[in-house]
Amino acid sequence: MKDSLWKLKVLFLSISDNFKCWKESVWDVELDELYCCNGRDCGCQAVTNRQYISWQFQVDVPPPNPKDRP
Ligand SMILES: [Zn+2]
Repeated sequence: MKDSLWKLKVLFLSISDNFKCWKESVWDVELDELYCCNGRDCGCQAVTNRQYISWQFQVDVPPPNPKDRP
């Protein structure tokens, strides 16, 4: 039982670090804002946070939120 609690504590610590990283880099960002710059200052090609996160995690690009359209 003691080992199980220790293992669960390690799991919690591992998940909490990943959760904090996910919250800061995915949950708290505006998906349609530029990830870096307008593309003139570096090689980022003016990708949005949505495009960058989709590329980083190899997931389909979600469509823009309809409420954000003019
Ligand atoms: Zn840039």
